[in-house]
Amino acid sequence: MFKSLRVQLAAWYLVLFSALFLVFCLVLYSSVSRALEGRLEESLAATSSISAQIFQEELEEMQGDSAAAAAEVISKTPPRGVVIAIAAGAKILAASDPEHRRDTEAAVARIPAAERREDAWDVPGWGKNGARGVARRVTYQNREFLVVAIEPLDSVVQSLQVLRETLWLVTPLLLAVAGAGGYLLTRRRLAPLRSMMAQTQAISDRNLETRLHIGDAAEELATLAASFNELLARLNQSFETMRRFVQDASHELRTPLAVIRGEADVALSQPRTAADYRESLMLIQEESRRLSRLVDDLLNLARADAGHVQLQLEELYLNDLLAECCRSLQPLAAARNVELSCVAGEDLAVQGDEELLRRMVVNLLDNAIRYTPEGGSVSAALETQGSEVCIRVCDTGVGIPAEAATRVFERFYRADKARSRQQGGFGLGLSIVKWIAESHRGAVELTSQPGQGSTFTVRLQR
Ligand code: ADP
Repeated sequence: MFKSLRVQLAAWYLVLFSALFLVFCLVLYSSVSRALEGRLEESLAATSSISAQIFQEELEEMQGDSAAAAAEVISKTPPRGVVIAIAAGAKILAASDPEHRRDTEAAVARIPAAERREDAWDVPGWGKNGARGVARRVTYQNREFLVVAIEPLDSVVQSLQVLRETLWLVTPLLLAVAGAGGYLLTRRRLAPLRSMMAQTQAISDRNLETRLHIGDAAEELATLAASFNELLARLNQSFETMRRFVQDASHELRTPLAVIRGEADVALSQPRTAADYRESLMLIQEESRRLSRLVDDLLNLARADAGHVQLQLEELYLNDLLAECCRSLQPLAAARNVELSCVAGEDLAVQGDEELLRRMVVNLLDNAIRYTPEGGSVSAALETQGSEVCIRVCDTGVGIPAEAATRVFERFYRADKARSRQQGGFGLGLSIVKWIAESHRGAVELTSQPGQGSTFTVRLQR
Protein backbone atom coordinates (compact mmCIF):
# COMPACT_ATOMS: atom_id res chain seq x y z
CA MET A 1 0.00 0.00 0.00
CA PHE A 2 2.87 2.39 0.87
CA LYS A 3 4.32 1.76 -2.59
CA SER A 4 1.40 3.66 -4.05
CA LEU A 5 2.46 7.13 -5.19
CA ARG A 6 -0.98 8.42 -4.20
CA VAL A 7 -0.61 7.19 -0.62
CA GLN A 8 2.99 8.39 -0.42
CA LEU A 9 2.13 11.89 -1.63
CA ALA A 10 -0.84 12.12 0.73
CA ALA A 11 1.31 10.84 3.63
CA TRP A 12 4.08 13.34 2.90
CA TYR A 13 1.54 16.10 2.67
CA LEU A 14 0.08 15.07 6.03
CA VAL A 15 3.51 14.86 7.68
CA LEU A 16 4.45 18.30 6.37
CA PHE A 17 1.11 19.77 7.34
CA SER A 18 1.34 18.26 10.85
CA ALA A 19 4.87 19.62 11.33
CA LEU A 20 3.78 23.10 10.22
CA PHE A 21 0.69 22.94 12.40
CA LEU A 22 2.79 21.86 15.39
CA VAL A 23 5.13 24.83 14.84
CA PHE A 24 2.09 27.09 14.51
CA CYS A 25 0.62 25.75 17.79
CA LEU A 26 3.92 26.25 19.65
CA VAL A 27 4.32 29.81 18.33
CA LEU A 28 0.68 30.62 19.14
CA TYR A 29 0.93 29.16 22.63
CA SER A 30 4.15 30.95 23.51
CA SER A 31 2.91 34.31 22.12
CA VAL A 32 -0.41 34.05 23.97
CA SER A 33 1.38 33.06 27.18
CA ARG A 34 3.83 35.97 26.78
CA ALA A 35 1.00 38.40 26.01
CA LEU A 36 -1.01 37.32 29.06
CA GLU A 37 1.99 37.59 31.37
CA GLY A 38 2.90 40.92 29.83
CA ARG A 39 -0.59 42.26 30.49
CA LEU A 40 -0.46 41.02 34.07
CA GLU A 41 2.92 42.66 34.62
CA GLU A 42 1.73 45.94 33.13
CA SER A 43 -1.28 46.02 35.40
CA LEU A 44 0.94 45.13 38.40
CA ALA A 45 3.34 47.90 37.49
CA ALA A 46 0.48 50.41 37.29
CA THR A 47 -1.03 49.24 40.59
CA SER A 48 2.29 49.32 42.42
CA SER A 49 3.10 52.78 41.04
CA ILE A 50 -0.26 54.22 42.17
CA SER A 51 0.07 52.60 45.61
CA ALA A 52 3.62 53.92 45.93
CA GLN A 53 2.42 57.41 45.09
CA ILE A 54 -0.42 57.21 47.62
CA PHE A 55 2.02 55.88 50.24
CA GLN A 56 4.40 58.75 49.59
CA GLU A 57 1.56 61.24 50.02
CA GLU A 58 0.32 59.53 53.20
CA LEU A 59 3.84 59.50 54.65
CA GLU A 60 4.12 63.20 54.09
CA GLU A 61 0.68 63.80 55.50
CA MET A 62 1.33 61.69 58.58
CA GLN A 63 4.84 63.07 59.00
CA GLY A 64 6.71 59.86 58.63
CA ASP A 65 4.41 57.47 60.54
CA SER A 66 5.09 54.66 58.15
CA ALA A 67 2.87 52.03 59.83
CA ALA A 68 -0.19 54.30 59.78
CA ALA A 69 0.56 55.44 56.24
CA ALA A 70 0.90 51.86 55.11
CA ALA A 71 -2.37 50.87 56.79
CA GLU A 72 -4.04 53.80 55.06
CA VAL A 73 -2.75 52.73 51.67
CA ILE A 74 -3.94 49.17 52.23
CA SER A 75 -7.39 50.31 53.26
CA LYS A 76 -7.67 52.26 50.00
CA THR A 77 -6.62 49.30 47.81
CA PRO A 78 -9.56 47.84 45.92
CA PRO A 79 -9.87 44.08 46.57
CA ARG A 80 -9.09 42.90 43.04
CA GLY A 81 -7.01 39.79 43.44
CA VAL A 82 -3.87 41.90 43.73
CA VAL A 83 -2.02 41.80 47.02
CA ILE A 84 -0.41 45.06 48.07
CA ALA A 85 2.27 44.96 50.72
CA ILE A 86 4.39 47.77 52.13
CA ALA A 87 7.74 46.80 53.61
CA ALA A 88 10.58 48.52 55.32
CA GLY A 89 13.58 46.31 54.60
CA ALA A 90 12.43 42.73 55.23
CA LYS A 91 9.69 43.81 57.66
CA ILE A 92 6.14 43.99 56.32
CA LEU A 93 4.40 47.14 57.59
CA ALA A 94 1.01 46.26 56.13
CA ALA A 95 -0.39 43.82 53.57
CA SER A 96 -3.76 43.70 51.88
CA ASP A 97 -4.17 39.96 52.23
CA PRO A 98 -3.38 38.79 55.75
CA GLU A 99 -4.10 35.18 54.72
CA HIS A 100 -0.99 35.20 52.59
CA ARG A 101 1.18 36.94 55.13
CA ARG A 102 3.79 34.17 55.10
CA ASP A 103 3.85 34.02 51.33
CA THR A 104 4.05 37.80 51.17
CA GLU A 105 7.04 37.82 53.52
CA ALA A 106 8.73 35.12 51.43
CA ALA A 107 7.99 37.11 48.29
CA VAL A 108 9.39 40.34 49.72
CA ALA A 109 12.51 38.41 50.74
CA ARG A 110 12.95 37.35 47.10
CA ILE A 111 12.78 40.85 45.64
CA PRO A 112 15.69 41.14 43.22
CA ALA A 113 18.76 43.31 43.84
CA ALA A 114 18.31 47.08 44.01
CA GLU A 115 19.17 47.81 40.40
CA ARG A 116 16.54 45.37 39.05
CA ARG A 117 13.76 46.22 41.46
CA GLU A 118 11.63 47.89 38.86
CA ASP A 119 11.31 44.53 36.96
CA ALA A 120 8.61 41.99 37.66
CA TRP A 121 9.81 38.88 39.43
CA ASP A 122 8.51 35.37 39.98
CA VAL A 123 6.98 34.37 43.29
CA PRO A 124 7.03 30.58 43.34
CA GLY A 125 4.96 28.64 45.84
CA TRP A 126 2.15 31.22 45.91
CA GLY A 127 -1.11 29.30 45.71
CA LYS A 128 -1.34 26.57 43.12
CA ASN A 129 0.31 28.32 40.20
CA GLY A 130 2.76 30.79 41.71
CA ALA A 131 2.54 34.56 41.35
CA ARG A 132 4.28 37.56 39.84
CA GLY A 133 5.36 40.62 41.78
CA VAL A 134 6.42 44.21 41.08
CA ALA A 135 8.01 46.53 43.64
CA ARG A 136 8.34 50.33 43.75
CA ARG A 137 10.75 52.18 45.98
CA VAL A 138 9.55 55.02 48.20
CA THR A 139 12.02 57.15 50.20
CA TYR A 140 11.08 59.51 52.93
CA GLN A 141 13.67 61.34 54.95
CA ASN A 142 16.40 58.85 54.14
CA ARG A 143 14.20 55.92 55.03
CA GLU A 144 13.53 53.42 52.24
CA PHE A 145 10.25 51.56 51.83
CA LEU A 146 9.04 49.14 49.20
CA VAL A 147 5.52 49.07 47.89
CA VAL A 148 4.94 45.60 46.47
CA ALA A 149 2.09 44.42 44.22
CA ILE A 150 1.69 40.65 43.83
CA GLU A 151 -0.81 38.86 41.64
CA PRO A 152 -1.29 35.09 41.40
CA LEU A 153 -0.81 33.57 37.96
CA ASP A 154 -4.10 31.62 38.21
CA SER A 155 -5.92 33.65 35.52
CA VAL A 156 -2.99 33.29 33.09
CA VAL A 157 -2.71 29.55 33.75
CA GLN A 158 -6.47 29.12 33.29
CA SER A 159 -6.49 30.99 29.96
CA LEU A 160 -3.57 28.90 28.75
CA GLN A 161 -5.36 25.76 29.87
CA VAL A 162 -8.38 26.74 27.75
CA LEU A 163 -6.09 27.39 24.78
CA ARG A 164 -4.39 24.00 25.24
CA GLU A 165 -7.71 22.19 25.42
CA THR A 166 -8.96 23.94 22.30
CA LEU A 167 -5.80 23.00 20.40
CA TRP A 168 -6.02 19.36 21.54
CA LEU A 169 -9.59 19.26 20.33
CA VAL A 170 -8.99 20.99 17.01
CA THR A 171 -5.70 19.23 16.05
CA PRO A 172 -7.02 15.70 15.32
CA LEU A 173 -9.99 17.15 13.49
CA LEU A 174 -7.80 19.37 11.37
CA LEU A 175 -5.28 16.59 10.66
CA ALA A 176 -8.06 14.20 9.64
CA VAL A 177 -9.48 16.80 7.24
CA ALA A 178 -5.99 17.60 5.88
CA GLY A 179 -5.15 13.88 5.42
CA ALA A 180 -8.40 13.06 3.66
CA GLY A 181 -8.19 16.24 1.57
CA GLY A 182 -4.60 15.47 0.57
CA TYR A 183 -5.49 11.91 -0.37
CA LEU A 184 -8.50 12.95 -2.45
CA LEU A 185 -6.57 15.72 -4.12
CA THR A 186 -3.61 13.49 -5.11
CA ARG A 187 -6.04 10.82 -6.21
CA ARG A 188 -7.77 13.31 -8.47
CA ARG A 189 -4.58 14.82 -9.86
CA LEU A 190 -3.09 11.35 -10.48
CA ALA A 191 -6.19 10.01 -12.20
CA PRO A 192 -4.73 10.80 -15.68
CA LEU A 193 -1.68 8.69 -14.74
CA ARG A 194 -3.91 5.71 -13.97
CA SER A 195 -5.73 6.22 -17.24
CA MET A 196 -2.37 6.40 -19.08
CA MET A 197 -1.32 3.16 -17.40
CA ALA A 198 -4.49 1.42 -18.55
CA GLN A 199 -3.99 2.76 -22.07
CA THR A 200 -0.35 1.60 -22.26
CA GLN A 201 -1.32 -1.86 -21.04
CA ALA A 202 -3.59 -2.15 -24.07
CA ILE A 203 -0.76 -1.35 -26.52
CA SER A 204 1.03 -4.20 -28.25
CA ASP A 205 2.98 -4.62 -31.51
CA ARG A 206 -0.36 -4.93 -33.30
CA ASN A 207 -1.70 -1.50 -32.42
CA LEU A 208 1.43 0.62 -32.22
CA GLU A 209 -0.38 3.40 -34.05
CA THR A 210 -2.46 4.02 -30.89
CA ARG A 211 -1.58 7.21 -29.02
CA LEU A 212 -2.13 8.04 -25.36
CA HIS A 213 -4.99 10.42 -24.72
CA ILE A 214 -3.54 13.30 -22.71
CA GLY A 215 -6.68 15.28 -21.75
CA ASP A 216 -6.28 17.95 -19.06
CA ALA A 217 -3.41 16.20 -17.25
CA ALA A 218 -0.89 18.31 -15.32
CA GLU A 219 2.07 19.65 -17.29
CA GLU A 220 4.52 16.94 -16.17
CA LEU A 221 2.09 14.13 -17.01
CA ALA A 222 1.25 15.75 -20.34
CA THR A 223 4.99 15.92 -21.15
CA LEU A 224 5.42 12.29 -20.12
CA ALA A 225 2.48 11.24 -22.31
CA ALA A 226 3.80 13.31 -25.24
CA SER A 227 7.27 11.70 -24.89
CA PHE A 228 5.66 8.28 -24.71
CA ASN A 229 3.62 9.06 -27.84
CA GLU A 230 6.82 10.09 -29.63
CA LEU A 231 8.44 6.84 -28.53
CA LEU A 232 5.43 4.94 -29.86
CA ALA A 233 5.71 6.76 -33.18
CA ARG A 234 9.41 5.85 -33.44
CA LEU A 235 8.71 2.24 -32.47
CA ASN A 236 5.89 2.05 -34.96
CA GLN A 237 8.16 3.36 -37.68
CA SER A 238 10.94 0.89 -36.93
CA PHE A 239 8.44 -1.96 -36.69
CA GLU A 240 7.07 -0.88 -40.05
CA THR A 241 10.59 -0.74 -41.54
CA MET A 242 11.38 -4.15 -40.09
CA ARG A 243 8.17 -5.64 -41.42
CA ARG A 244 8.85 -4.19 -44.88
CA PHE A 245 12.44 -5.41 -44.70
CA VAL A 246 11.37 -8.96 -43.91
CA GLN A 247 8.75 -8.87 -46.67
CA ASP A 248 11.21 -7.51 -49.25
CA ALA A 249 13.92 -9.95 -48.16
CA SER A 250 11.59 -12.95 -48.51
CA HIS A 251 10.49 -11.67 -51.87
CA GLU A 252 14.09 -11.32 -53.05
CA LEU A 253 15.02 -14.77 -51.74
CA ARG A 254 12.10 -16.35 -53.51
CA THR A 255 13.29 -15.58 -57.08
CA PRO A 256 16.74 -17.25 -57.02
CA LEU A 257 15.33 -20.16 -55.03
CA ALA A 258 12.57 -20.64 -57.61
CA VAL A 259 15.17 -20.53 -60.41
CA ILE A 260 17.35 -23.15 -58.66
CA ARG A 261 14.41 -25.43 -57.97
CA GLY A 262 12.97 -25.04 -61.46
CA GLU A 263 16.31 -25.76 -63.08
CA ALA A 264 16.92 -28.83 -60.90
CA ASP A 265 13.36 -30.11 -61.57
CA VAL A 266 13.81 -29.70 -65.32
CA ALA A 267 17.26 -31.35 -65.31
CA LEU A 268 16.02 -34.31 -63.31
CA SER A 269 12.71 -34.80 -65.13
CA GLN A 270 14.41 -37.00 -67.77
CA PRO A 271 17.88 -38.30 -68.61
CA ARG A 272 20.07 -35.60 -70.18
CA THR A 273 23.48 -35.27 -71.74
CA ALA A 274 26.50 -34.33 -69.69
CA ALA A 275 26.58 -30.95 -71.41
CA ASP A 276 22.97 -30.27 -70.40
CA TYR A 277 23.68 -31.20 -66.77
CA ARG A 278 26.74 -28.98 -66.83
CA GLU A 279 24.70 -26.07 -68.13
CA SER A 280 22.03 -26.60 -65.47
CA LEU A 281 24.64 -26.86 -62.71
CA MET A 282 26.30 -23.65 -63.92
CA LEU A 283 22.97 -21.85 -63.75
CA ILE A 284 22.36 -23.24 -60.29
CA GLN A 285 25.87 -22.17 -59.26
CA GLU A 286 25.29 -18.63 -60.55
CA GLU A 287 21.95 -18.33 -58.71
CA SER A 288 23.48 -19.77 -55.53
CA ARG A 289 26.22 -17.12 -55.72
CA ARG A 290 23.55 -14.44 -56.02
CA LEU A 291 21.74 -15.95 -53.06
CA SER A 292 24.88 -15.98 -50.93
CA ARG A 293 25.55 -12.36 -51.82
CA LEU A 294 22.00 -11.43 -50.85
CA VAL A 295 22.16 -13.34 -47.58
CA ASP A 296 25.55 -11.71 -46.77
CA ASP A 297 24.13 -8.25 -47.44
CA LEU A 298 21.03 -8.96 -45.37
CA LEU A 299 23.12 -10.27 -42.52
CA ASN A 300 25.39 -7.22 -42.59
CA LEU A 301 22.47 -4.83 -42.57
CA ALA A 302 20.72 -6.74 -39.79
CA ARG A 303 23.93 -6.67 -37.72
CA ALA A 304 24.35 -2.97 -38.41
CA ASP A 305 20.75 -2.34 -37.32
CA ALA A 306 21.28 -4.26 -34.13
CA GLY A 307 24.48 -2.25 -33.51
CA HIS A 308 26.55 -5.43 -33.47
CA VAL A 309 29.11 -4.27 -36.01
CA GLN A 310 32.29 -3.09 -34.28
CA LEU A 311 34.40 -0.95 -36.60
CA GLN A 312 37.98 -2.25 -36.80
CA LEU A 313 39.52 1.20 -36.91
CA GLU A 314 43.09 1.52 -38.15
CA GLU A 315 45.18 4.04 -40.01
CA LEU A 316 45.03 3.37 -43.73
CA TYR A 317 45.93 5.08 -46.96
CA LEU A 318 42.74 5.95 -48.76
CA ASN A 319 44.57 6.57 -52.08
CA ASP A 320 45.95 3.02 -52.00
CA LEU A 321 42.54 1.61 -51.14
CA LEU A 322 40.87 3.47 -54.02
CA ALA A 323 43.56 2.39 -56.51
CA GLU A 324 43.25 -1.26 -55.42
CA CYS A 325 39.44 -1.20 -55.76
CA CYS A 326 39.73 0.27 -59.27
CA ARG A 327 42.24 -2.43 -60.18
CA SER A 328 39.97 -5.20 -58.93
CA LEU A 329 37.04 -3.87 -61.00
CA GLN A 330 39.08 -3.33 -64.16
CA PRO A 331 38.10 -6.80 -65.52
CA LEU A 332 34.36 -6.06 -65.07
CA ALA A 333 34.75 -2.65 -66.75
CA ALA A 334 36.71 -4.23 -69.60
CA ALA A 335 34.08 -6.97 -70.02
CA ARG A 336 31.39 -4.30 -70.35
CA ASN A 337 33.52 -2.12 -72.52
CA VAL A 338 33.46 0.74 -70.01
CA GLU A 339 36.56 2.84 -69.49
CA LEU A 340 37.51 2.96 -65.81
CA SER A 341 39.98 5.64 -64.68
CA CYS A 342 41.28 6.39 -61.20
CA VAL A 343 42.91 9.54 -59.79
CA ALA A 344 44.00 8.47 -56.33
CA GLY A 345 46.61 11.23 -55.81
CA GLU A 346 49.14 11.42 -53.01
CA ASP A 347 49.26 9.47 -49.76
CA LEU A 348 46.18 10.27 -47.72
CA ALA A 349 45.98 8.62 -44.33
CA VAL A 350 42.64 8.28 -42.52
CA GLN A 351 41.27 6.29 -39.59
CA GLY A 352 38.78 3.70 -40.77
CA ASP A 353 37.69 0.12 -41.12
CA GLU A 354 39.58 -1.03 -44.21
CA GLU A 355 37.26 -3.89 -45.12
CA LEU A 356 34.11 -1.77 -44.86
CA LEU A 357 35.59 1.18 -46.74
CA ARG A 358 36.76 -1.18 -49.49
CA ARG A 359 33.25 -2.59 -49.69
CA MET A 360 31.78 0.90 -49.95
CA VAL A 361 34.08 1.92 -52.83
CA VAL A 362 33.56 -1.41 -54.63
CA ASN A 363 29.77 -1.01 -54.39
CA LEU A 364 29.93 2.49 -55.87
CA LEU A 365 32.29 1.46 -58.68
CA ASP A 366 30.32 -1.70 -59.36
CA ASN A 367 27.08 0.31 -59.69
CA ALA A 368 28.74 2.91 -61.89
CA ILE A 369 30.05 0.21 -64.24
CA ARG A 370 26.79 -1.75 -64.27
CA TYR A 371 24.61 1.29 -64.99
CA THR A 372 26.87 2.69 -67.71
CA PRO A 373 26.25 1.52 -71.25
CA GLU A 374 29.03 0.19 -73.44
CA GLY A 375 31.51 2.83 -74.56
CA GLY A 376 30.85 4.97 -71.51
CA SER A 377 33.33 5.89 -68.82
CA VAL A 378 33.64 5.74 -65.05
CA SER A 379 36.12 7.77 -63.02
CA ALA A 380 37.07 7.61 -59.38
CA ALA A 381 38.91 10.43 -57.63
CA LEU A 382 40.10 11.36 -54.16
CA GLU A 383 40.14 14.98 -52.95
CA THR A 384 40.69 16.78 -49.65
CA GLN A 385 38.52 19.72 -48.69
CA GLY A 386 39.61 21.23 -45.39
CA SER A 387 39.17 18.59 -42.72
CA GLU A 388 37.17 16.42 -45.11
CA VAL A 389 38.17 13.75 -47.58
CA CYS A 390 35.92 13.22 -50.62
CA ILE A 391 35.74 10.03 -52.63
CA ARG A 392 34.01 10.83 -55.90
CA VAL A 393 32.73 8.22 -58.35
CA CYS A 394 31.41 9.66 -61.66
CA ASP A 395 29.90 7.81 -64.56
CA THR A 396 28.44 8.66 -67.92
CA GLY A 397 25.66 6.12 -67.43
CA VAL A 398 21.89 6.07 -67.41
CA GLY A 399 21.59 8.53 -64.50
CA ILE A 400 18.91 8.57 -61.85
CA PRO A 401 15.67 10.55 -62.12
CA ALA A 402 15.17 13.29 -59.48
CA GLU A 403 12.21 11.52 -57.86
CA ALA A 404 14.35 8.40 -57.31
CA ALA A 405 17.49 10.28 -56.16
CA THR A 406 16.36 10.50 -52.53
CA ARG A 407 15.17 6.91 -52.43
CA VAL A 408 18.09 5.00 -53.95
CA PHE A 409 19.67 4.76 -50.49
CA GLU A 410 16.62 2.94 -49.13
CA ARG A 411 16.77 -0.82 -48.79
CA PHE A 412 15.52 -2.83 -51.75
CA TYR A 413 14.82 0.31 -53.73
CA ARG A 414 15.66 0.13 -57.42
CA ALA A 415 15.26 3.15 -59.67
CA ASP A 416 14.80 0.99 -62.75
CA LYS A 417 13.53 -2.34 -61.47
CA ALA A 418 13.82 -4.35 -64.66
CA ARG A 419 17.31 -3.15 -65.47
CA SER A 420 18.59 -3.51 -61.92
CA ARG A 421 17.34 -7.06 -61.44
CA GLN A 422 18.71 -7.99 -64.80
CA GLN A 423 22.08 -6.57 -63.65
CA GLY A 424 21.94 -8.85 -60.65
CA GLY A 425 21.20 -6.11 -58.11
CA PHE A 426 18.98 -6.45 -55.03
CA GLY A 427 18.70 -2.76 -54.20
CA LEU A 428 20.86 -3.16 -51.09
CA GLY A 429 24.24 -1.86 -52.35
CA LEU A 430 23.63 1.84 -51.73
CA SER A 431 22.02 1.31 -48.32
CA ILE A 432 25.21 -0.50 -47.34
CA VAL A 433 27.28 2.42 -48.75
CA LYS A 434 25.20 4.87 -46.71
CA TRP A 435 25.54 2.84 -43.52
CA ILE A 436 29.34 2.50 -43.94
CA ALA A 437 29.75 6.25 -44.62
CA GLU A 438 27.63 7.18 -41.62
CA SER A 439 29.30 4.71 -39.30
CA HIS A 440 32.57 6.53 -40.18
CA ARG A 441 30.88 9.83 -39.19
CA GLY A 442 30.60 10.70 -42.89
CA ALA A 443 27.85 11.08 -45.46
CA VAL A 444 27.11 10.17 -49.05
CA GLU A 445 25.59 12.51 -51.64
CA LEU A 446 24.28 11.99 -55.13
CA THR A 447 24.02 14.33 -58.12
CA SER A 448 22.64 12.91 -61.32
CA GLN A 449 21.37 13.88 -64.76
CA PRO A 450 19.11 11.19 -66.25
CA GLY A 451 20.64 9.98 -69.51
CA GLN A 452 23.97 11.71 -68.83
CA GLY A 453 25.42 10.14 -65.73
CA SER A 454 25.66 10.19 -61.95
CA THR A 455 28.19 11.31 -59.36
CA PHE A 456 28.32 9.77 -55.90
CA THR A 457 30.40 11.67 -53.33
CA VAL A 458 31.36 10.19 -50.00
CA ARG A 459 32.60 12.73 -47.40
CA LEU A 460 34.67 11.43 -44.52
CA GLN A 461 36.37 13.25 -41.62
CA ARG A 462 40.15 13.01 -41.67
P1 ADP B 1 21.30 -2.51 -56.91
O1 ADP B 1 21.86 -3.72 -56.35
O2 ADP B 1 19.94 -2.66 -57.46
O3 ADP B 1 22.25 -1.79 -57.83
P2 ADP B 1 21.80 -0.31 -55.15
O4 ADP B 1 21.32 -0.04 -53.77
O5 ADP B 1 23.26 -0.38 -55.35
O6 ADP B 1 21.05 -1.59 -55.62
O7 ADP B 1 21.21 0.83 -56.03
C1 ADP B 1 19.86 1.19 -55.95
C2 ADP B 1 19.35 1.68 -57.27
O8 ADP B 1 19.98 2.93 -57.59
C3 ADP B 1 19.70 0.76 -58.40
O9 ADP B 1 18.67 -0.17 -58.58
C4 ADP B 1 19.79 1.68 -59.59
O10 ADP B 1 18.50 1.87 -60.15
C5 ADP B 1 20.21 3.01 -58.98
N1 ADP B 1 21.66 3.26 -59.18
C6 ADP B 1 22.65 3.02 -58.33
N2 ADP B 1 23.83 3.44 -58.80
C7 ADP B 1 23.59 3.95 -60.02
C8 ADP B 1 24.39 4.60 -61.02
N3 ADP B 1 25.71 4.75 -60.89
N4 ADP B 1 23.76 5.02 -62.16
C9 ADP B 1 22.43 4.87 -62.31
N5 ADP B 1 21.61 4.30 -61.38
C10 ADP B 1 22.18 3.86 -60.26
